[in-house]
Amino acid sequence: MPTANAPFVPPGSGWPEDPASPSTPVAHGAGEVVELAAKAPGLDELCARQSVCRACDRLVEWRERIAVQRRRAFADEEYWGRPIAGWGDPRPRILIVGLAPAAHGGNRTGRIFTGDRSGDWLFASLYRVGLAAQETSVRAGDGQRLIGARMAATVRCAPPDNKPTPLERTTCLPWLAREVEDVAASVRCVVCLGGFAWQGVWPALRQAGYGLPRPRPPFGHGAEVLLEPPPSVERRDPVLMLGCYHPSQQNTFTGRVTAGMLDDVFVRARDYA
Ligand code: SF4
Repeated sequence: MPTANAPFVPPGSGWPEDPASPSTPVAHGAGEVVELAAKAPGLDELCARQSVCRACDRLVEWRERIAVQRRRAFADEEYWGRPIAGWGDPRPRILIVGLAPAAHGGNRTGRIFTGDRSGDWLFASLYRVGLAAQETSVRAGDGQRLIGARMAATVRCAPPDNKPTPLERTTCLPWLAREVEDVAASVRCVVCLGGFAWQGVWPALRQAGYGLPRPRPPFGHGAEVLLEPPPSVERRDPVLMLGCYHPSQQNTFTGRVTAGMLDDVFVRARDYA
């Protein structure tokens, strides 16, 4: 018999890798996202605040409904049902950016790119090139860790049909912009998984102080752009931005993305960084 399920895991209730506590402040609207992201005293607290956000009514309703209904294959599992915080090395050389968590992937496991097919492809590649400690990422607390890398999403909650609205992207942006700013001192390469992540990361980079080319170069697999680091960063050599096709089921089934293609991008990122 499936266990009863709550719409979300209460902060600080013992879920592995939960960054938040019962006293973590919660954003209930776009203005509070701006304020709480700006005033977070550090990266840990920023991630805690990301993970309890309730600013987008539609996405909160969706992520919590999925967490209660669950997919049959996961009927006995508790779902995370909260936003997915940035995860990985706090001083990364490589920042990997995706669009949004999957309803039964990150929204279930509480860790970005974890528990779905896309993540299986991604972590296998990261492991092969030495950026992940294990070949798979199954659940929070499984021992997986990133080596010199960090992952973040442009939208932190699973959206219906994987399509956040423009307003939801804008509302979530301050979380990413502040995270990009906080890790800028060490980041040498930004990898964007898919065209939506490529689009979504530009405003966050701009807000974090990066010098960006005009016009913006188009997304493509293996596309490369050199960015000027923010003025606050000591190292002045350019930061490399790389495009990578998303390892979605559609892309991997059709052969649009192969393991070799993913490895090529992450080898390039690793060697540059
Ligand atoms: S998408 Fe972002 S801003 Fe909207 S509720 Fe989720 S974490 Fe908050």
